[in-house]
Amino acid sequence: MTDDAVARAVARSPSVAEVLVGRSVLSEIGPLFARHFDGQNACIIADEATWNAAGARCFDLLTEAGITTRHHILPAHPRPKPTVELANDLRDLLAQDASVPVAVGSGVINDVVKYAAFDLDRHYLCVATAASMDGYTSAGAPLSDKGFKMTIQCRPARVVLGDLDVIAAAPLEMAGWGYGDMAGKIPAGADWILADALGIEAVDTVAWPMVQGPLRGLLSAPARIAAGDLAAVAGLFTGLTMVGLAMEAHGSSRPASGADHQIAHLWEMDDLSLNAERVSHGACVAVGCSMVLRLYDFLLDQDLARLDPARIVATAPDLATKQKVIEAAFGHGEIANRAMAETRAKHVDGPALLARLTRLQAVWPDLRTRLAEHLMTAPQMRTALHAAGAPSDAEEIGVNRDYLRQTTLNARFMRSRYTVLDLLDETGLLQAAVEAALPAQPTANLG
Ligand SMILES: [Zn+2]
Repeated sequence: MTDDAVARAVARSPSVAEVLVGRSVLSEIGPLFARHFDGQNACIIADEATWNAAGARCFDLLTEAGITTRHHILPAHPRPKPTVELANDLRDLLAQDASVPVAVGSGVINDVVKYAAFDLDRHYLCVATAASMDGYTSAGAPLSDKGFKMTIQCRPARVVLGDLDVIAAAPLEMAGWGYGDMAGKIPAGADWILADALGIEAVDTVAWPMVQGPLRGLLSAPARIAAGDLAAVAGLFTGLTMVGLAMEAHGSSRPASGADHQIAHLWEMDDLSLNAERVSHGACVAVGCSMVLRLYDFLLDQDLARLDPARIVATAPDLATKQKVIEAAFGHGEIANRAMAETRAKHVDGPALLARLTRLQAVWPDLRTRLAEHLMTAPQMRTALHAAGAPSDAEEIGVNRDYLRQTTLNARFMRSRYTVLDLLDETGLLQAAVEAALPAQPTANLG
C-alpha cells in the first residue's frame, strides 16, 4: 500500500478532498484548514484524551493562523457512546454558528461529528488520533438509534489529517483494535465471495482490491503493531484509510463488513463493557472475526453435494416463523421491527430457495477452493490477533458461551446483507455450525 494508492483513491472520491498523512503534519493544520475552508471559523470537537493528544495543539495552531476557533470537549471516561442522541447534541451545538467542525479523535468522535456535520450540510476536517478503525474516510456513521445499531449513510471527512507521531503515541491497545477491524476484512471478503457466487451481490472490481489487495501484507506483522512500531502503525493507518474510501466508492459498507461486524454490532448495541469501560469496536470485531472464521472452518469441512435441497425447502422456516424468533430475541419494540425489515429483504423460500441451494451445490467445488484460498483459518487468525495485542476469544471481552451462541444466531437479523450466517441458515447447518464453533465446554472439576 503506497501513498500513491491513497492519492488516486482520494482523486476519485466525490467527498474526500485531501488526506494528509506523515510525521509532524499536525503543524500544517492552519494552512490545511485555510486551503479547504478559506475564511471560515473552526469548532474543535474532542474528548479529554484526544484534546490532550492533539486538540489543544490544533486550537493553538489554528488560532495562530488567524482562524477564529472554539472548542467543545467531551469527558473521556466513560468513553463517549456512538449514539444518534450524542450526534444530535453536537449538531445543535454546531448550529449556533457557521463554523467548520474539526473532529479530533478516532472512532466515536469521528462518527458523531460525521453525522452532525452531514445533518447541517457542512463539510468537516478530521484529525485522526489513532489507527483504531476504518471510519475516517468512509461515508457511513455506525451509530445506535434508540438502541438499534445501524450504519447511517452520511459523508466522510472533507479533509483527514493523520499525524503519525500522534497516531503512534496513542495507547498501544488502540492499534490492536485497528488490527482487529482490519482482520474482519478476511471473513467480510469471504461473505462477499459467497454472495457473488450465488448471484446475490456481485464483487465490485474497484472496491475489492482497495481492501483485499494489501490486506494479507497488513496482517502479516502483528508483533510490530503490538510494539507500536511507527512504520507498521503507519501502514495500518493507510490501510484503514483505503478501506474507508473503498466503502465510499462502493456506496455501502459491503467491502469492509460482514457477519463479523453483525455479531459485533449486537454486542455494541448491548453496551458490552469490561472493567467499567465499553469494549471498543475493533475489539468486538476481532472476536466476531474469530467466531466467523470458526464457522467458515466448519463450512469448508462440509460436503454440500450430500445436501437434499427438496427436503431442506420443505422444512425451511417461513417469514412468520422467523418473526417469532426475532420477537423472542428482541421483544416487540423498534429493534424487532427493524430486524424484521432487514430479514424480510433477504428472505427466500419455496422455489427461490430451491434454486439457490441447487446453484450452491453446482458451484460448491469451485467456491470452496476460492474461499480456502481467500480465508485464514481460525487458529491462524487467533495467533495473529494475540500477537497484535487484540483479543480473539470471546471470554477476553467478557462474552460468555451462551451469550456468544445467542448473538451469533441472532446476528443475521441485523442486516439484509447476505453472509455465511445466511448460507448456513438456508442449508439447515447453522445450529450445528455454531455449536461446533463455540469454545470447548468447561469441564467440571470432579476433584
Ligand atoms: Zn469496523
